[in-house]
Amino acid sequence: MVTSSSTVAIGSWRLEPSVWFVLRSVCIELEPVEAVGATMNGDRMTPDRIAAAGNALASAKTVFVVTGAGISAESGIPTFRGAGGLWEGFRAEELATPAAFEASPERVWRWYLWRREQYHACPPNVGHWALRSLSLSGRQCLIATQNVDGLHRHVGHGDDELVELHGCIEKMHCTRCGRRASLPPVASSPPGELPTCRECGGLMRPHVLWFGESYWDGVLERAAAFAQHADVCLVVGTSAQVWPPIQLALFAQQQGATLIDINPEPTELSNRADIYLRARGGEALSALLEAAGVPLSMPEPEAAG
Ligand code: NAD
Ligand code: ZN
Repeated sequence: MVTSSSTVAIGSWRLEPSVWFVLRSVCIELEPVEAVGATMNGDRMTPDRIAAAGNALASAKTVFVVTGAGISAESGIPTFRGAGGLWEGFRAEELATPAAFEASPERVWRWYLWRREQYHACPPNVGHWALRSLSLSGRQCLIATQNVDGLHRHVGHGDDELVELHGCIEKMHCTRCGRRASLPPVASSPPGELPTCRECGGLMRPHVLWFGESYWDGVLERAAAFAQHADVCLVVGTSAQVWPPIQLALFAQQQGATLIDINPEPTELSNRADIYLRARGGEALSALLEAAGVPLSMPEPEAAG
């Protein structure tokens, strides 16, 4: 876990050490998911919920967004916990760990290169474009994503609007000296050869945060610095099983943001949210933009043929 307590700046926002302390102490007991299911069952995006969420967004100047694997599901990328989440009979929890890499760096690299290839065939979907449209509408936005697929970048969000909490599948870092580098283009990756560091010769590993690892310094602080000033916090497509991203969303809510959770399946976060929209990301975000009077801009789908 991050222990840094220095002041962090992001644009004009600053996160004071005391705020970081508050963030770390937001330890709300989440209700079990069965209880959420009981109250939410049957509800989808009722017009009154969409109207309330649209109103909050319409008047928001600052929007903090937390995304998970669910936002990329409509692009064709499987979530870890959904169907299609297995690779060669392994679950993600068995591969995305330091121990798995130590046991077989070759296998872990093959899994990441396979995933990377899958992701290259998956274009951003309406949910990604809706978030981009929101940031183009003049509001200050920051997306803290758990995803490593880079799809938020593909629609044009730069480093100033994006925190990749769990890293990026297009990057790697040295296990010895920590140097970061981009992966070579897919076509030129030699199969069967493990990448080594140009500086020290150490073994390179995917620049992805693995189960049981600490967040890289500054990553959560940067997101929290923004979250503390947010008017609205949107959470899209996360199962709420990974705690720090959820903690960021609850922190934003505690600091005054309206918390809107979007997920076709209720999670432990859903009844902590001020507004829960039980729907897919693309569907809910486009309805939300319409209710807030924000135009959705996305390229025309390419003609088939
Ligand atoms: P998760 O797989 O645990 O949960 C996905 C959530 O998305 C579920 O709650 C599901 O109900 C919801 N969902 C499914 N379809 C949806 C849709 N169309 N719209 C909105 N929500 C939808 O994912 P997680 O909570 O992000 O945690 C898993 C970890 O694995 C994270 O670190 C995640 O980033 C990583 N992961 C990343 C990718 C990616 O980069 N695309 C893919 C798989 C896993
Ligand atoms: Zn090195």
